[in-house]
Amino acid sequence: MRPTVPRPTATHPAVTRAAVLRDFNAPLELTEVPLPRELPPGSAIVRITSTTLCGTDAHLWRGVLPFVRTPIILGHEMAGEVVALGALSGRDAFGKPVEIGSRVVWSESVCGHCQGCTVLREPVLCDHRGYGFGQRADRWPFAIGGLSEYAYLPPGADRIVLDPEMPDTWAAAAGCAVKTVVRAFANAGGVEPGSTVAVQGSGPLGLVATAMARAAGAGRVITLGGPPNRLALAAKYGADATIDVTDVTDPDERVAQVEELTGARGADLVLDFAGAPTANREGVLMCGKRGTHVVVGLAGPQAAPVPMDVVMGREITVVGSLNGDVGDLARALRFLSAFAGRFEWDALFSPPVGLAGAEQAIRDMASMAAVKAVVDPGLD
Ligand SMILES: [Zn+2]
Ligand SMILES: [Zn+2]
Repeated sequence: MRPTVPRPTATHPAVTRAAVLRDFNAPLELTEVPLPRELPPGSAIVRITSTTLCGTDAHLWRGVLPFVRTPIILGHEMAGEVVALGALSGRDAFGKPVEIGSRVVWSESVCGHCQGCTVLREPVLCDHRGYGFGQRADRWPFAIGGLSEYAYLPPGADRIVLDPEMPDTWAAAAGCAVKTVVRAFANAGGVEPGSTVAVQGSGPLGLVATAMARAAGAGRVITLGGPPNRLALAAKYGADATIDVTDVTDPDERVAQVEELTGARGADLVLDFAGAPTANREGVLMCGKRGTHVVVGLAGPQAAPVPMDVVMGREITVVGSLNGDVGDLARALRFLSAFAGRFEWDALFSPPVGLAGAEQAIRDMASMAAVKAVVDPGLD
């Protein structure tokens, strides 16, 4: 193996323009945030070319996650171009060279020495995972969020150099939504060809999961969610049947409809991307004998009790799934490009806006007007 030669730090701006969240539920402040001057080994500075927003960004903006301290820079799905590299930052997760100008996506940083990292070897279970909402914009290294022209890419955040044909929006969305779906299916043990898959939720994750279930060989895919424009996209992505939860508001009625659609046998796999209080109770009740229910959504403190007698009586497996690691990210990119001809991924994304439009973009996520709002911080 060639020894890695430490690289000099290329010049990069001292500050970056960013849309900063100071107060929850309030306008984002367009301001300048410092960038780290000295780059530690393994770090980089990236010019963000696309940030796709996630439902979590809307939750964070509203302040529903009590442990978050402001000021912060929202946005955790992004792709960008490397403008400066610390020493020993020269390789991506596949061993490909990372150079000034490389287009990259990256995974949350991990510490490499906790039980999750070392004993379990599951980076998503790292005690010190570098989620963007944990980084205050007034403390070093300041800018790791996506609503910023430049971002600091920490050491311990595995990166992947993008193929030239991979669009920035797709790559950014792989960074949270798509990799989370990839991991959920992996944790479920995959899709048995011909089986019935029910997808709870028709946001970006539910829509991608619908396509993935179809691509993985499900015999029947049922997607539950709303509003109708999202369910229409679910149908385009391969749902054989959709159930509009704003129409069918009674959870037991939704379970009954899935039962009817499956000839009373229930679904083999039910994935919850809805994060609604009744979703997991419904998910278990929608499972047939030996079915699997994957929990990805956050049901919150008012969650309806899950009927454990049904779990026992039908030998149901309930599996948790949390985000995704760099392997899931790599598989997410591969999935998006492999099925680019079959599913119209661009239908997920709104036209890009600049940082000045970021707040409206977050509101569009909150109101579900957008499936995936897109911010290009380089735009005015
Ligand atoms: Zn996310
Ligand atoms: Zn760790």
